[in-house]
Amino acid sequence: MVFTMVPRVRAFRAGCGNSFDARSARRQIMPARETEAIILKTFPLGEADRLVSFLGRSSGRVRGVAAGARRLKNRYGSTLEALSHVQLWYVEKETRELVRIQQAESLESFHKAQSDYGLSTGLAVVSEVSELVLPEHEVSESMFRLILLVAREVERSGDWNLPLSYFAFWTVRLGGWLPRFDRCAGCDAPLGSKPAFYDAHQPGLFCEKCRRSGMKPLHHEARLLAERFTGERLDRIEFEKSMQPSAGELREASLTWIEHNLERRLITRELLEQT
Ligand SMILES: [Zn+2]
Repeated sequence: MVFTMVPRVRAFRAGCGNSFDARSARRQIMPARETEAIILKTFPLGEADRLVSFLGRSSGRVRGVAAGARRLKNRYGSTLEALSHVQLWYVEKETRELVRIQQAESLESFHKAQSDYGLSTGLAVVSEVSELVLPEHEVSESMFRLILLVAREVERSGDWNLPLSYFAFWTVRLGGWLPRFDRCAGCDAPLGSKPAFYDAHQPGLFCEKCRRSGMKPLHHEARLLAERFTGERLDRIEFEKSMQPSAGELREASLTWIEHNLERRLITRELLEQT
C-alpha cells in the first residue's frame, strides 16, 4: 500500500470551547489560521474578488474569499492557479460559511502544466474530482498526498496519461468503490487473464458471458497495471508507450466508477477526450 486510509478527523476549529465566554468570543473575528494547502478551484466573485476552494492539509476542503484577487495588481499573484501548492493564511468567522483568505505564498507551482491547454485539462480533471469527492472540513492526508504527487508528475513528464490513470484509480480505491478485479460480479467466475467488462449503471466487473450490451472492456493488462499502482509510487513507475492503452482503459473505468458513485457526470472528462 502506498497510501493508507487515515480516519477522517474533524478539523479543529479555533475557540471551540464549551463556556459561554468562548461562544461570545467566537462572534468576534477569529485569529488567522495557517495551513499548507492545494488550490482546487477558483471562481470569479463580484467585480474584484475570487471564490477559492482549497484543500488544507490541516483544515480539509474549505471555501473562502480572496478579496481583490481579480484586480490587475493583487497580493495573491499566481498563487491561486489550479493545483498550486501554497501556504495559506485565512480567517474564519463563526456566522459565515466562507473564510476570508488573507495571504497565500507559493510553495510549489506547476507553471508548465498550468499554462499548457492539454496539460491543464488533465489538472482540471484532478481538481473537479477532488472538489466533488472530498467532504468539507474533513482532513484527508491521503488525498492531499495523492493530488500533489499527480500534479508533480504531470508537470515533470509533460504528459497526463499515466498520472491521471493513477489518480482516478487511487481515488476509487480510497473512496472504497473499487470492485473485485479477479471475479465476475454476475456469476462469480474467475476472470483470469480474460477481458472483463463494465458500464456506468452498476459497480463491478463482468465476464464475457455476463457482459451486457454497451459495456466497455477492461483487459487483463489494465488490471495488471492497477496491481502495479497499488504497490508502486507513481514517480517510480516508468511510462512506456506500450502502457498507454492499459492506462487509458483503467482511467476510463475508474472515472466511470467515480461518476457512478457521485451520481453525476464529470464536466472535465469530455474536454479530456478532445485533447
Ligand atoms: Zn459472469
